[in-house]
Amino acid sequence: MTPSHPPAPHPAAARRRTLRTATDIAAAGLAPAPRMAEIEAVAERYAVAITPALADLIDPTDPNDPIARQFIPDTRELTATPAERADPIGDDSHSPVKGIVHRYPDRVLLTPILHCPVYCRFCFRREKVGGEEAVLGDGEMAAALDYIRAHRTIWEVVITGGDPLMLPSSRLAEMVRALDAITHVRTIRFHSRVPVSDPDRIGQPLLDALQSETALWVAVHCNHARELSEAARAACRRLTRAGIPLISQTVLLKDVNDSPAALEELMRALVAARIKPYYLHHLDLAHGTDHFRVPIAAGQDLMRHLRGRVSGLCQPSYVLDIPGGHGKAPIGPVYLDGDRVEDWQGGRHRYPPERGD
Ligand SMILES: *Cc1c(COP(=O)(O)O)cnc(C)c1O
Ligand code: SF4
Repeated sequence: MTPSHPPAPHPAAARRRTLRTATDIAAAGLAPAPRMAEIEAVAERYAVAITPALADLIDPTDPNDPIARQFIPDTRELTATPAERADPIGDDSHSPVKGIVHRYPDRVLLTPILHCPVYCRFCFRREKVGGEEAVLGDGEMAAALDYIRAHRTIWEVVITGGDPLMLPSSRLAEMVRALDAITHVRTIRFHSRVPVSDPDRIGQPLLDALQSETALWVAVHCNHARELSEAARAACRRLTRAGIPLISQTVLLKDVNDSPAALEELMRALVAARIKPYYLHHLDLAHGTDHFRVPIAAGQDLMRHLRGRVSGLCQPSYVLDIPGGHGKAPIGPVYLDGDRVEDWQGGRHRYPPERGD
């Protein structure tokens, strides 16, 4: 007798490809059936994708799993607070041509693709990523490169998105070659989550595409020590072996990394994987992200915890991207107050010291 329905795939088998719908997520055993309607409603509004590498890190029996929290849609995403906005860091007002954001004199963002292998539920560009026509066409890329060529103050090109390491290696190679040929561009920086979200993509064709005359850095987006799986660390190793220095970007997220232990473990794991912690981002005011928000004072306390207790190599700088397009500002904490300087244990000392101190 043949069954009327094919047997449901085993959850582990369902996790072998990227999950894009409520049905996929439920089949992978990552959300109970009653949550499907909620996930479907969120998926209608915002892009959803969870790669096998990240799905495998989720513990479905833990209701507070920090990986699940970052990627499984939540109904709270459909409620925006009055302070939240569609363009939280004012990219649009600083975009002279499609695919370029020029806010600081010496550097530009280049956004060749607005797709990602995985979609973070707190994404600051969530209104832009995952849509159709999200890849720069040949003419648009040529115009963006012309803009960079024409502005001799541009010392650095930050290639971001979306996730630029999703592009085919041949396109990456063309872009890197074109930037290499612009003599005033001395630094190329990729911002990517691929080493964590799809580590197998960091293979020889991609490494070859990133070989450049110009210094080329990769900033890895990573928010929890568990994201640095064996596969992710191996991907980072391939990048560093190819001569590419790695820095990190972490978003401070409630119930993901906002405890002293979680943040300390993450920073140590990054440095141990040869990634220099660069920024701890205060969460941008994107729509429907309030359930991830940590008060700035709590972020400063977490930074105080790191200072002194954890190697200097493990210290990121805590930054806020000022709404309206005013750029990033370090937001502390501050250890100098007039003629008093505070040590890592909270002791205060006069500086310069009085004679005999
Ligand atoms: C964040 C950002 C940069 C890079 O800033 P750094 O502080 O150099 O990391 C550059 N341009 C724009 C528009 C940005 O938003
Ligand atoms: S990887 Fe970056 S651009 Fe992509 S969804 Fe996450 S935060 Fe947004």
